[in-house]
Amino acid sequence: MIKLYEENSYTKEFEAKIINIDKEIKVIELENTAFFGKGGGQPGDSGVLVSESGSVEVIETVKKEGSILHQVNSVANLKIGDLIKGKINWKKRYKFMRMHTALHLLCAVVPADVTGGQIGELKSRLDFNANVNSINKEDVQIKLNQVLKNDNEISYEWVDSQVLEKKPELIRTMTVKPPKTNGKIRLVKIGNIDLQPCGGTHVKNISEIGSIIIGKIENKGKMNRRINISLSD
Ligand SMILES: [Zn+2]
Repeated sequence: MIKLYEENSYTKEFEAKIINIDKEIKVIELENTAFFGKGGGQPGDSGVLVSESGSVEVIETVKKEGSILHQVNSVANLKIGDLIKGKINWKKRYKFMRMHTALHLLCAVVPADVTGGQIGELKSRLDFNANVNSINKEDVQIKLNQVLKNDNEISYEWVDSQVLEKKPELIRTMTVKPPKTNGKIRLVKIGNIDLQPCGGTHVKNISEIGSIIIGKIENKGKMNRRINISLSD
């Protein structure tokens, strides 16, 4: 199954054949898809699948063993082999892409390992393995503003997973293993600001993020600082 969002995260519409239907739980698998499968703190996508027999709503999409499962509201008129046109809810996805890329920048300016995170439409967060005095809100905000001053492109490189085993310092998120596609792992590079393996969806240039507003910094345990962020629009 080809994940179209890995090749181009801006793909909003695509055509594909249905390769599997689980009628009981209303789940569809496609030969390729632009729907992002929930994972690594990024929510799945919603949208529609349009076929000759009408259209069904995609409520949620999740990753499963190299495939993406599309949870739909009805499978009654669909069968394996049907050609569908998929359309993702772009407004929501684009917000996730901007938020996701913003979290990379946050990760780059906070000198601590990431223990978890969650992306949302209104607010997102990263948890850092850091003690209470090591993160200063104003300091983080100043550093982020500095980083956002310059345009920086996001680029990708696929490397063998062994390359990463030799450079474990690249893995910033301690609890999440980067997803593999055909034994390879994708490195995401933001100018000379950030480099880390990631399977999520990002914008092309950090200028698309706008401004990042640092919200509450919460204490979630002895060595766990949670930084909340929102975007200016
Ligand atoms: Zn990412």
